[in-house]
Amino acid sequence: MGRRGIKEYRPAEALVLIAADRDHKVLVCPSCNTPTIDRTPALTDQSAGRVSMTCAKCGRSASYLLRASLATPEDPRRQ
Ligand SMILES: [Zn+2]
Repeated sequence: MGRRGIKEYRPAEALVLIAADRDHKVLVCPSCNTPTIDRTPALTDQSAGRVSMTCAKCGRSASYLLRASLATPEDPRRQ
């Protein structure tokens, strides 16, 4: 990981942001309180995989792995 141009949230801040994303809440930067967070993939894409969130203002970023079990709730009717 290069450090140039990329700032990471402190662990406590990253946890706040990740928790908000998991709860599908509006993402607000825990560092500068800007409600403009670039999320990759798009917010509507809840497929499993790596989720990256970067603040458009202060440039801090956090990422986590979205697990399939969270992304796709089991359908009890399926079997
Ligand atoms: Zn920020």
